Amino acid sequence: MRFDLVTIFPGFFAGFFEHGIVRRAQADGLVEIGVHDLRSFTHDRHRTVDDRPFGGGEGMVLKPEPLARAMEAMGIAPRQQRVLRSAQDDKAEGEPISGGTRVILTSAQGCRFDQSVARELAQLDRVVLICGRYEGVDERINELYCDMELSIGDYVLSGGELAAAIVLDATMRLIPGVLGNEASGEFESFGAADASITTDVEGVPRSQHGSGGLLDYPHYTRPAEFAGLRAPEVLLNGDHQQIRRWRREQQLRKTLRNRPDLLERAPLSEEDRRVLEAIKEQG
Ligand code: SAH
Repeated sequence: MRFDLVTIFPGFFAGFFEHGIVRRAQADGLVEIGVHDLRSFTHDRHRTVDDRPFGGGEGMVLKPEPLARAMEAMGIAPRQQRVLRSAQDDKAEGEPISGGTRVILTSAQGCRFDQSVARELAQLDRVVLICGRYEGVDERINELYCDMELSIGDYVLSGGELAAAIVLDATMRLIPGVLGNEASGEFESFGAADASITTDVEGVPRSQHGSGGLLDYPHYTRPAEFAGLRAPEVLLNGDHQQIRRWRREQQLRKTLRNRPDLLERAPLSEEDRRVLEAIKEQG
């Protein structure tokens, strides 16, 4: 899968690309990343990328011409031409997106980026991310080229670079082969909402496999005792059935405490509901 980032600060991403899974995924040839310096698509002596907003007001706006040239240089046609093209390869409407390219504008006004969006993006061949700066990007770039506007949360950043890095990171780790263990993405927070993990463990309800849309359970490692606190005994005794039960209960506890909104959408088993009631009763 290929990611292309358009930014006025190409150096911003250097550290991010050189560490951990992002570095390894590139080294293994699973992910290719291109960073495009918006200033290299300017023609004036000052390499101007911004201008004052029409209608007045604070700040500056990223001008449309350099961005349009950047798109052209990357072989990205305006959206209308692309829509016409994809209408020809007779895809049933509403079919999940798979393959192809999406152009994304990072924006505080965008739809909220979350794990389900990351899962969709991970199906694509190519994602192009435009990093805004100042007050944002001339809206005609959004209209002409962008398939979606994505926000990483309800706060305002000073630039789209961190947002683009987050979208890239969360998406990339869902590409098959990027994480060592194929299933590990499913077992994390927000993992497969349908809990459709293929490995079956006898006597454990299927809903107890995978995160099923809940938050992850807490993790412990050695030493067994640290600062007077012991790791939960159940994790030390090697009874995997008990360990799974305990972890599921912890997931329910944590989700109830920190993100009760997720419980409304999560597919819960009868057992889950009983456990949840018991947790609520304990207060
Ligand atoms: N005037 C804009 C904020 C501009 S911040 C507004 O009020 O909505 C400058 C740039 O930072 C934006 O163009 C966008 O690319 C990026 N940005 C800011 N907040 C963001 C968020 N929550 N998610 C994604 N990108 C964001």
